[in-house]
This record gives sequence, structure tokens and C-alpha cells, in this order.
Amino acid sequence: MTELYDLHCHSTASDGALSPTELVQRAYHQGVTSLALTDHDTTSGLIEARLCADEKGIKFISGIELSTNWQNQCFHIVGLGIDPNYPPLAEATHNLQSMRLERAEKMALKLEKKRIPGAFEAVKKAAAEGMITRTHFADFLLSQNHVSTHQEAFDRYLAKGKAAYVSTPWADLKLAVSWITEAGGIAVLAHPLRYKLTANWMGRLLNEFKSAGGQGIEVITSRMNSDEIRLAADYATRFELAGSVGSDFHNATNPYVELGRLAPLPDNIKPVWELLG
Ligand code: AMP
Ligand code: MN
Ligand code: MN
Ligand code: MN
Repeated sequence: MTELYDLHCHSTASDGALSPTELVQRAYHQGVTSLALTDHDTTSGLIEARLCADEKGIKFISGIELSTNWQNQCFHIVGLGIDPNYPPLAEATHNLQSMRLERAEKMALKLEKKRIPGAFEAVKKAAAEGMITRTHFADFLLSQNHVSTHQEAFDRYLAKGKAAYVSTPWADLKLAVSWITEAGGIAVLAHPLRYKLTANWMGRLLNEFKSAGGQGIEVITSRMNSDEIRLAADYATRFELAGSVGSDFHNATNPYVELGRLAPLPDNIKPVWELLG
């Protein structure tokens, strides 16, 4: 059987549309053989996902995608193979949940000033027990016809510098890497090309990330062209990082993003799964 890895995706525990069970079932139907669930700042979907993965015979990797700050910019760090019960990590996710709740209240106030009431109640209801994210705000704005696409919600209201944007003191990047490694996991820089850093700044970031204990970088994510793959692979080689592959699947509405639908990891890149126990 050919192995198919997808080490980055989201469930209703954060901003995904599918429950952990539905997500694993979809991954199974897509032929995924090893799956990591990596919800934003929470591990609350892992138990359910693992149960379903065991039933389907999929190898399951406990993951998380931590929101972190470095040099006043937000970077996402994926943790793979973590023990979700490691106390500092559990405490961090608890704090991040409060931070997200507070941020949501502030964002809703900003929207109210733009004569868009009701956002806080709506996103709280939509996120239910899960993490409240800007995706929930985008869904709300779309459902109320304040925008006509998700992208427009970000461009007009939610992106950095826009009307409802609230800067958030996420976890310090080096600290977040240490929580992951101390919880027995491998820290991976998520979607490295999405930060729009110059090569110089990317070098600084990767040096910092490595000195904190980071060991991997996503070389393959959805919708990358061959130039982008080459660039990400080049960072992996130069900074001696293992390569990860992950779709960042959130929902079935985007035909270009599907569980397991990913280009192969280039041959010269050490696969991150070789580091997973
Ligand atoms: P948050 O972590 O709450 O700030 O929400 C970030 C999430 O919003 C990301 O994980 C994406 O799923 C989504 N997102 C961020 N920027 C955009 C964008 N420009 N267009 C669509 N979705 C976005
Ligand atoms: Mn997301
Ligand atoms: Mn991300
Ligand atoms: Mn993600």
C-alpha cells in the first residue's frame, strides 16, 4: 500500500467545518494513511479523532497549530506527536482560549462601531466548545451579507490593519517551540511562504526557530507551484530541517484544498515522519 501523509488539518475544535470523526472519515476516503489533526491552539479534538483513526486503520499523530509571535508578527508552529496532557502545553492552550475569547469581544465591539451588531454572540455560538477564530467572524459577515466572499471579509474587516482587526499577544515563538518539544513533539514551521518574509528575515526566523529546538518546516502545502516547492525545500536543506506535508484542510468548499491531495516531498528532503516515534 502506498503511504499518504497529511500532517496539517482542522476540525470543529477550531475553524474546520468537519467534526474530528468526519474529518478522519474523509481522510480515509481520500486514501490518507497517516493523519495529524492540528487545530489552532487546542488539542480538544484529538481523542475523538484518534478513536476514529484506530477504527479505520489510519496512523494518527496528535498535533496542534500554535499561534505565536516573533518580531511583532504572527507565525504558526505545528507540533506533531505531542502529549496533549503535558501540563505547560495544556496550560498554554487554556490561556490561548481566554485570549481568543477576549479578542473576539474586542473584534465584535469594533464591528458594532461599523454598525454590524451581534458578532460576538454569533461566533461564540458557531465555535461552540471550540476555539473562536477569525474564520468564524468571516462566516458571520458572509451570512449577514456584509460581504459576498470569505476573502472579502478578511480584506475589508479582519486582516491586519482593517476595521475589526485586534492585535493579539500570542505565545512567544521560542516558548511555543519549547512546549512542543518538551511535550515530546516535533516543532514544524507552518506554511513558510505565507509570511511574505524576505530571504534575509526568513534566515533570521529559521535560526531563531532552530535554536529554540524547531526541527521541521512545511515543504509541501496545498496550492503550491513548483517554484514555491523549490523555495521551501531550499530552506529545509539550508537550515537542516525535516520536511513536512500538510493540506491545511478546513472545509470542502475549496476544490484546491483536499485532505491528502499533495505533491510528493522532494527526494532530497528528510521526511519529518522519520523523526516521529
Ligand atoms: P485566527 O487564528 O483566529 O487569527 O484565524 C486565522 C485563520 O483565518 C487562519 O487559520 C485561516 O483559516 C483564516 N484566514 C486568515 N487569513 C485569511 C485570508 N486572508 N483569507 C481567508 N482565510 C484567512
Ligand atoms: Mn484556520
Ligand atoms: Mn496556519
Ligand atoms: Mn492551519
